[in-house]
Formats: sequence, C-alpha cells, structure tokens
Amino acid sequence: MSLHEDPFSRQSAERLVAQYGSPLLIVDAERIRLQYRRLGVALPGVDLHYALKPLPHPAVVRVLGAQGAFFDLATSGEVDMVRSAGIAPARCIHTHPIKRDSDIRTALDFGVRTFIADNPDEIRKFIKYRNRASLLIRVAFRSPDATCDLSRKFGCEPEAVAALLRLAAEHQVEVEGLSFHVGSQTATPGMYVQAIKTCRNLLQQAMQEGFALRTLDIGGGFPADYVVTSTPIEEFCAPIIAALATLAPGLRLIAEPGRYLVADAALAVATVMGRALRDEQWWYYLDDGLYGSYSGRLFDHATFPLEALCGGTERFPSVLAGPTCDSIDIIAENIALPHLAVGDLIVGRSMGAYTWASATDFNLFPKAMVLTLDRGRLMTEED
Ligand SMILES: *Cc1c(COP(=O)(O)O)cnc(C)c1O
Repeated sequence: MSLHEDPFSRQSAERLVAQYGSPLLIVDAERIRLQYRRLGVALPGVDLHYALKPLPHPAVVRVLGAQGAFFDLATSGEVDMVRSAGIAPARCIHTHPIKRDSDIRTALDFGVRTFIADNPDEIRKFIKYRNRASLLIRVAFRSPDATCDLSRKFGCEPEAVAALLRLAAEHQVEVEGLSFHVGSQTATPGMYVQAIKTCRNLLQQAMQEGFALRTLDIGGGFPADYVVTSTPIEEFCAPIIAALATLAPGLRLIAEPGRYLVADAALAVATVMGRALRDEQWWYYLDDGLYGSYSGRLFDHATFPLEALCGGTERFPSVLAGPTCDSIDIIAENIALPHLAVGDLIVGRSMGAYTWASATDFNLFPKAMVLTLDRGRLMTEED
C-alpha cells in the first residue's frame, strides 16, 4: 500500500468529494484483502464464506472472489449479486433459516446446493428438491455478550437436532452438517468454544444413530474495532481453533464472517451543510446521518470514530446532526471538534459494516455514493 496514496487520507477524501460530491463511502480493496488474509491465518483449515449482509456491494464481492473466498447468501438479491460478479455457485451456501419457495428456487437455479434449516416446516420445503440440495441444521446458542444476539430469532435447541435429522431422513432429504451463529460483534470467544463442544456431542450422537454428518459451520460474529477496540483476531480465534481441533478429523469447517472483513475497509465522508449555535454549542448539520450511513448507530449499536478533516487545534463540545428533518437524526452529541464551516468534511472510520447496507433515502436524501479504490485506482464494473 505504501507506493500508493492511502484512500483514507485527507487529500484523497477531499479530492474524491471534489470530483464525485458528498456524501461518500470510500471502500479500500486492499484493506478488505488484508482482513481476509488475517482471518484466514487466524482460522487455518476453515473456509471463509463472506456474508454479504454487512456490505452488499459488487466491488467487495469481486475483490473477495479474486482472493478465493467463499460466499454466504441469504436472499435472492444476494444470489443475483454474486452471480453477476461471476462467482461459481459451488463457492456459495444459502444460510437464511426461513425461505420462500421462490428464494430456494432462485438459489438452486444458480447452482447453490447447501441450505440451512432449523425446524420441521423448513425441512419439508426441501422434499421436492431432495436430489438437488442438502442441509445444515442451525442450532441456537444464546449469546448475552454479543452486541447482536442472533440466536433469539433463529436456530433450534440442541435437544431438537436428533428429531430433525430423523425427519429429514424419513423424507430422504440430505443433512450434511450443523451450523450456528453466536451473534455479531462477539466480545469473547467463549460462546464459540461452548457451541463447538455441544456440536461435537451432537455430531457424535448423530454418527451413533447412523447419520454421517461432514460439515460444521461456525457462523460469523468476529469482532471489528470501533471507538472501543476488540481483542486482536489471532488471540480471539486461538481458543476456537483449539476447540475445532478436538473434532473428528475429516470434517469440513466453514465460517461466515461479514463484519470483520469489511468494517475497517470503509471511510464515510460527509460535508457540513449548515451550522447553528444552540445553547452555546455549535450544531453542525451534515449531508449524511442516522437515516444514511450512520444507520449503524441505531440498528447495529455501533459507535464510530469520528473526526473533522479541517479546522484548528482547539476543540469545543459540539453536536453532529444528520440532514433529515427528524429530531432523532443526531450522530453525536458532546463531541470535541474544532470550529467548522459550511463545506468542511467530517469522516467516520470503521464504517464498512452495517452502515451503508442499512441506510435509507428517508426525506429523499440519497444514500452515500460508494467508491472502491484499489491501490490508488478507482475500481470500475470491469474490475
Ligand atoms: C449476519 C450474518 C452473518 C455475518 O455476521 P457478522 O457478525 O457480520 O460476521 C453470517 N451468517 C449469518 C447467517 C448471518 O445472518
């Protein structure tokens, strides 16, 4: 990266805003590659399926595809995106536990074979596709220490797995393994270790009953750095790797990282549209806010590092507000900022995951434009 200008530098942000307008989400292909490689080293022997949900953008899919990544799809829209990016269906699994028949067919027609189920109804949906699909049973492990506990909404109790395996066998629907997702932005690896232990027992029981399960999918949830930094990924994954090493050999191991691969790979750039002095505090109104890229403050409970790209060295407690006419549209209060003027830029870091993806065009303020830079060059649709 040293030969090229950092796409997140002040000069780069200013030049891109001058050329393309504001607000922007600047995505750095090289940072995505670094995260992908780093997680690959931390989780040796585990196939990394990028979950598109945190940043469903074709450039991200192409960058990861070129690295040899696998993909985790949950909707027909995500199927269409990887298909257009030229990703082989054999590299993809479909992980939504609850699907319409049309969603299953879209994925099957693309060529995806592996799907997720967590209840009897969902298994029965595959009876008519039993020659073309196999299933992972998603098991729920409640995760009180994850920022987003995903096991409240999906997954079966570990005790329910045996009955689901029997039901699938009765209908000749193939089950190839188990999956879980301990929750997103998980603070500690303990829940993965516990889940792997329980799955080891479930896999053994299944074997004793004559079911040959060959895959374990340990989901996503790997933590990224925000204002509060997380445990370094190598340290975070070490106990997970130790737990995986206790499993029977020959199992295919899968993870579904989303956030970890993309969070720090995007810089959000917004422009001060106007300002007002209220109760002796400066309020700066930006062209991006809680209904836009900063939607992650609400939906993802994330606190993004924010800074002004201009202004003097003295700092004053200030308020950063979004552009819409809604009063909840406030990004940060009591934030120390220099005096800013209309046209000055504010950047948010670690803005790649669950930000632009959940942005709306409420009030018809358009979502930020996404620009992907690769070693100093803007990626186009041909890259
Ligand atoms: C959202 C999601 C992911 C990605 O989770 P992260 O916490 O972003 O790593 C992976 N798998 C499934 C099934 C998901 O719903």
